[in-house]
Amino acid sequence: MTTDSRPPAAPIPPGATIGIVGGGQLGRMTALAAARLGYRVHVFTPEADSPAAQVSERATVADYLDMAALDAFAGSVDVATFEFENVPAATVERIAARAPMRPSARCLEIAQDRIREKTFLNANGAPTVPFARIASPAELACALDEIGRPAVLKTATLGYDGKGQVKIDARTDPAEAYLRMGADVGILEGFVDFACEVSVVLARDAAGRVAAFDVAENRHANHILDVTLAPAAIAPEVADEAERVAARVAEALGLVGLLAVEMFVTRDGCVLVNEIAPRPHNSGHWTLDACVTSQFEQFVRAVCGLPLGDPARHSDAAMKNLIGDEVNRFDALVRDPGAKIHLYGKGAPRPGRKMGHVTWLFPRGLGPKTPG
Ligand code: AMP
Repeated sequence: MTTDSRPPAAPIPPGATIGIVGGGQLGRMTALAAARLGYRVHVFTPEADSPAAQVSERATVADYLDMAALDAFAGSVDVATFEFENVPAATVERIAARAPMRPSARCLEIAQDRIREKTFLNANGAPTVPFARIASPAELACALDEIGRPAVLKTATLGYDGKGQVKIDARTDPAEAYLRMGADVGILEGFVDFACEVSVVLARDAAGRVAAFDVAENRHANHILDVTLAPAAIAPEVADEAERVAARVAEALGLVGLLAVEMFVTRDGCVLVNEIAPRPHNSGHWTLDACVTSQFEQFVRAVCGLPLGDPARHSDAAMKNLIGDEVNRFDALVRDPGAKIHLYGKGAPRPGRKMGHVTWLFPRGLGPKTPG
């Protein structure tokens, strides 16, 4: 099912302007890929001196709900996209009324709400953990009887990197857990004792062609992605299933652009989708250095209607995020001739802030070594 029944539009050629809503590192790396292909980038973000604006031709610094600024932005771009999920849907819809928006506002709306997201996934043949909508402590107590413990209570919207998540074990009081979540509406999820976490990043073009990067394994620390290892050390049939599920989700979304699908691999080799993101993803950063075409170039190609590039992995890779003070490892990393360093141009290294990442390559087939 696609939301856009119009025939694929003509490609948007180099020289045209891509509008990116959001000013973070994903926009920055997209803008760099766009520049390499000869495009101009106009960023829309409330943040002054944002990572994306630093490397783009133009930036509008305005509130996401400043309609006049949004209209002017939409009028200045040939195509628009977004680089993070917590943009108000109204912002994207406003721009979409005046400029082609890829992916569609609908893709964003589904990904923004964990309940809508998991309902959509299950309806389209993508398995998830059992879940329930929670709007009161009583509903939580009831849902815990159904789903069992341990479980995880998450805010339905605006949560990321573990914010707004409460683990519920045998002794947790539902009323207290509900309060700790810090939102009115949440989602209760069964807790998975997973073997590993993996993700698939793929591009899909307007004609429905899909190009997926190899499945990568993700390791988190304090709920934030710490390391990605590519390829994931999983059985080929599990990797194939992960790719099949991701492609099914992209198709069901009618997605034109990039999609990241984060999954748990259970101990008996099943894949359960945890989250989807219709944009470049942290777990795809390794593709910058290890693939023929990076996720960012692929994103630009899909959004501009160009043929998709080759996602083949020429090397195995280990990507380490530089979170907060870890960016101070720069002096040592820059002396490591094999370290491919990417810094995002952010100011102070606050705890939990993604400051950059570093990727090491290994001969294809030998497997990545976990960075220290
Ligand atoms: P999320 O914000 O949903 O991406 O969650 C962040 C991380 O918390 C995940 O990558 C997992 O490591 C862990 N996590 C989230 N949900 C669950 C779950 N239902 N069962 C087990 N671990 C989870």
